[in-house]
Amino acid sequence: MKNLIWLRNDLRLEDNPIITHACQQGPSEALFIVCQAQWRQHDESAAKIGLKLDALLALANDLNALNIPLHIIECDFFHQCDNVLTRFCQQHQFTDIWLHREIPLHEQQRDQKVLESLTDLGIRTHVYGWDLFLPMPIYNQQGLPFRVFTPFYKKWLQQLQGQDNRVIPAPQKQPHNDANRYSVALTEQTSDIVNKITSLKKEYRQDLWALSYTELDQKIIQFCHAKMAAYPSQRDIPAVAGTSTLSPYLALGMIGPRYLLNLIQLECADQGQDWRENDWLRELAWRDFYKQLMWHFPALSRHQAFKDNTEQIKWNEDEEVFQAWCDGKTGFPIVDAAMRQLKQTGWMHNRLRMISASFLTKLLFIDWRKGERFFMQNLIDGDFAANNGGWQWSASTGCDAVPYFRVFNPLRQSEKFDPEGQFIRRFLPELAILDNKSIHNPTEEQRQLTNYPRTIVDYKQARTHAISAFEKITKQNEGL
Ligand SMILES: Cc1cc2nc3c(=O)[nH]c(=O)nc-3n(C[C@H](O)[C@H](O)[C@H](O)COP(=O)(O)OP(=O)(O)OC[C@H]3O[C@@H](n4cnc5c(N)ncnc54)[C@H](O)[C@@H]3O)c2cc1C
Repeated sequence: MKNLIWLRNDLRLEDNPIITHACQQGPSEALFIVCQAQWRQHDESAAKIGLKLDALLALANDLNALNIPLHIIECDFFHQCDNVLTRFCQQHQFTDIWLHREIPLHEQQRDQKVLESLTDLGIRTHVYGWDLFLPMPIYNQQGLPFRVFTPFYKKWLQQLQGQDNRVIPAPQKQPHNDANRYSVALTEQTSDIVNKITSLKKEYRQDLWALSYTELDQKIIQFCHAKMAAYPSQRDIPAVAGTSTLSPYLALGMIGPRYLLNLIQLECADQGQDWRENDWLRELAWRDFYKQLMWHFPALSRHQAFKDNTEQIKWNEDEEVFQAWCDGKTGFPIVDAAMRQLKQTGWMHNRLRMISASFLTKLLFIDWRKGERFFMQNLIDGDFAANNGGWQWSASTGCDAVPYFRVFNPLRQSEKFDPEGQFIRRFLPELAILDNKSIHNPTEEQRQLTNYPRTIVDYKQARTHAISAFEKITKQNEGL
């Protein structure tokens, strides 16, 4: 027996069942396939790719210490993985392959093809469920997928309680095997890729995001211990570090779901709280919700709106206006500060994602798909399902989305969630001299003085326009 562990978005050693179980069965080696053209086609940001490749290098070291070589091979697109992988397995005589299921359509198609070919070759396949809190889909009492988060969450909690959530320890150190000989030979073969990795390294804020696995662990523990209790009151204030900022690591699978759950349970027990009522866990469940939606409704992977009728909307195609939003030059300080946070750090606070997405789709009336794409191209935590879910929620085209008549007022949001303009001052230093009131909406004179742009849209008119456009398609749909 000779096992190949195919790592994708599960880049970790601890709490990774495919690594541990493969190693328990016999000699095991790991593999990662770099698909740069595919990643580009999927709009993965340079920051996300940079972090992913850094994670891979760190993981290679950790695996190496356990005598598990990590092979890195390359092809352009997912559809080529089939050829590349079968050749690789034959060349190195693997008898078994271990992997987690993935959800987006391209990933599913890739895996189906690969698994068929490997089975034809007589290679045994060990396909694990999704690398999420729940590895399998859940259904409502009618046996249908959930379309509303709250009932999903109730069932999700029940299911979670009924399954084995023990953390899967990292594998034991493996005895030396043949693999180590050619892992040395591989150094030459992979040096190209290592060079690429090195060249990508500059393209993201390593000062903010590059963590060793040990540092990442400390970050998780520190959040659970020191910040989780205050999460409900702090999570909506962008000027405060009240959320975990773990999303980039979750997106790459650098953190295990069982490990997180165990930490949450321990911390809640310490504080005499019921872990099932923990707000942070509830937020984490949104991730599972959007992933499950994408699995149940493959049209989402094709960038179609969840609510069919919203496809009739005639979106505004004004490129200049779209560009002003991308550049953080809308004249609405909270929106512009949010867009600068994204550009400067690769990350944006959740409240601000909602404000800026609502601004783009409702007030500028620009197709949510353009915003979704721009976010994906810039976010270090870009996650197809969460991003798609967040955009369709904001645009009222999605499942369990914000009702179309609830249009965020950027000024009110700014006053409520950044009352002293602390966040705005941080990312729009040109406005820092303004008082706490006018920083949310500078006067004409203040704009001239600070060289800050005029507002590119009139809130009231834009809101009326958006609501009537949605009303129109709703009525058409009802045959009125
Ligand atoms: C328009 C829009 C786009 C988004 N795009 C992404 C994306 O590409 N990738 C992404 O991970 N999240 C996305 N989100 C969800 C959310 O904004 C981020 O997960 C969150 O801001 C990450 O910060 P954090 O790690 O501090 O979150 P915390 O508040 O600490 O939450 C913990 C984790 O739970 C998950 N989570 C939290 N809220 C959500 C949510 N609403 N939907 C799905 N998962 C959630 C994330 O994995 C997050 O890291 C988007 C939201 C919106 C409104």
